[in-house]
Amino acid sequence: PPVELPIHDAVLGHAAEYGDRPALIDGTDGTTLTYAQVDRFHRRIAAALAEAGVGKGDVLALHSPNTVAFPTAFYAATRAGAAVTTVHPLATPEEFAKQLRDSGARWIITVSPLLEPARRAAELAGGVREIFVCDSAPGHRSLIDMVASTAPEPQVPVDPVEDVAALPYSSGTTGVPKGVMLTHRQIATNLAQLEPLISAGPGDRILAVLPFFHIYGLTALMNAPLRKGATVVVLPRFELETFLAAIETHRITGLYVAPPIVLALAKHPAVARYDLSSLRYVLSAAAPLDAQLAAACSERLGLPPVGQAYGMTELSPGTHVVPLDAMDPPPGTVGKLIAGTEMRIVSLDDPGKDLGPGETGEILIRGPQVMKGYLGRPEATDAMIDAEGWLHTGDVGHVDADGWLFVVDRVKELIKYKGFQVAPAELEALLLTHPGIADAAVIGVYNDDHNEVPHAYVVRQPTADGLTEDEVMTYVAERVAPYKRVRQVTFTDGVPRAASGKILRRRLRGRA
Ligand code: ATP
Ligand code: MG
Repeated sequence: PPVELPIHDAVLGHAAEYGDRPALIDGTDGTTLTYAQVDRFHRRIAAALAEAGVGKGDVLALHSPNTVAFPTAFYAATRAGAAVTTVHPLATPEEFAKQLRDSGARWIITVSPLLEPARRAAELAGGVREIFVCDSAPGHRSLIDMVASTAPEPQVPVDPVEDVAALPYSSGTTGVPKGVMLTHRQIATNLAQLEPLISAGPGDRILAVLPFFHIYGLTALMNAPLRKGATVVVLPRFELETFLAAIETHRITGLYVAPPIVLALAKHPAVARYDLSSLRYVLSAAAPLDAQLAAACSERLGLPPVGQAYGMTELSPGTHVVPLDAMDPPPGTVGKLIAGTEMRIVSLDDPGKDLGPGETGEILIRGPQVMKGYLGRPEATDAMIDAEGWLHTGDVGHVDADGWLFVVDRVKELIKYKGFQVAPAELEALLLTHPGIADAAVIGVYNDDHNEVPHAYVVRQPTADGLTEDEVMTYVAERVAPYKRVRQVTFTDGVPRAASGKILRRRLRGRA
């Protein structure tokens, strides 16, 4: 059943009981916040924000890397009645200004190292009334000082069904990032739906290296573990050795990551130098993960199979997950449909036609976690959610007879070669099985005969600088049907990725 609670109550409802348990630990300097502190601090900061003028219907931009203060700032803002739009900490002032204008944000919470771009963005956008900082900076009110506020706690009548709690922007993988309106009920309900399958308990220590500002981190690394009394160890960015050291030092039990981290765990020599024996599970989401790569990772770490989850910002975000205690999930699956949610797979050629198990088509979802809509983009919302409430994900997949879902790729990314459809993700996964290849991305390009063909961008392993284009093409040709062959190769230093780990194929397209 839908959970009709404001998000701060849905997450922190038990915080007082968890009391002295560590809620958040800074993985760099060890700074710790207990549950009692998170509970008290976010209420005091909410009071101070309300006194400063933040109230119901406002949008507040939260602009910060992962820090122990991030969740407190987030829940303080929602308790004061605001919707939080999370901003990429590395956004340029122009990008940030665009999000401020688009979302109508009047308030910013940032951190002192990011104050200059935040000020510049506010100037460019206009309409920002105040910039607060989590730490401290001259001329700005600080959240640390706000904790001492004696203002009365705001009693904002939050309507969980209608009021927007979070306004994250989609990753912009396929076009411009769009503001996704997620209500309190949508997020709280999705948390409850996912909880029996993924959630940590009080003894768990989760490493939060994926960004809180993206909906995956916001759910899996912030809301879900804090709701359950787990400890979240926070890192501001992914740097392999720091990440491995944090697992060892903090005896991390669970990792929620994206495929590039699974790749590093499976292949990078540094992994062998750390004691990762505290890990009990690894779960990957946000982009296609190849079954062989997942197996290589779990084998190397001596863990149960790397599980997956599937979702999108517009779905608050989860619809499928491989339960942590699943005995033998079929390799490559992204999981089973969660409770209270419906799915259809429809034909790509004949969109009204439902497909059965084993047949591949577009994934459609209906349920209480489907977004309220894109902010200020009614046509885009209507293009995404049909009159019967089905959200058209734009993703291609199929289910097996037992209901396990397999995601092939995005409809828009499929390469149409002479009437056949080729999934870039499948070729990328195959390329990664080559010992000389460290990373790879595939896009469709038009060749001289006007056929769309797979073009691979390949990063060589340091030990394989002699690897040639022909060797790469032959390796693929020996392993796939002729229509799937990679027909062009470019060697490159790195594959462009979004913060959530997704390959930014449109950037490669600009280069091709
Ligand atoms: P935009 O919509 O702005 O182009 P985006 O779709 O990348 O960006 P997100 O909402 O962050 O923005 O990502 C959702 C998408 O991520 C899904 O539609 C799907 O393509 C992909 N995805 C998520 N989880 C998985 C998974 N387990 N396997 C394969 N793909 C996944
Ligand atoms: Mg999308």
